[in-house]
Amino acid sequence: MPPAPVTCSTCRANCCKLEVILMGEDNIPARYTQTDRWGGQVMTRLDDGWCAALDRDTMLCRIYEQRPGVCRDYEMGGDDCLIERRSLI
Ligand code: SF4
Ligand code: SF4
Repeated sequence: MPPAPVTCSTCRANCCKLEVILMGEDNIPARYTQTDRWGGQVMTRLDDGWCAALDRDTMLCRIYEQRPGVCRDYEMGGDDCLIERRSLI
């Protein structure tokens, strides 16, 4: 049987628990960001581990149209995605 296709709809937004470093061109609402210990801007993660911009009811990004470049570049089905999906439980 072929493996099930990789899609975000069968994932609990695992990659949205990773650190997201913001770049100069990112324009993210300040309520979702914070300064890290080195002075860089990052997406805030809440106590449950997920990014502050993730809607906990739908498990979708609330700022999808203006999500950071790091998130845009993250490839669904890519090596990093497959590693994160292994922690699905
Ligand atoms: S880990 Fe992969 S499948 Fe899961 S939400 Fe992220 S991109 Fe989608
Ligand atoms: S900004 Fe959106 S896509 Fe990026 S980690 Fe946060 S919830 Fe996920």
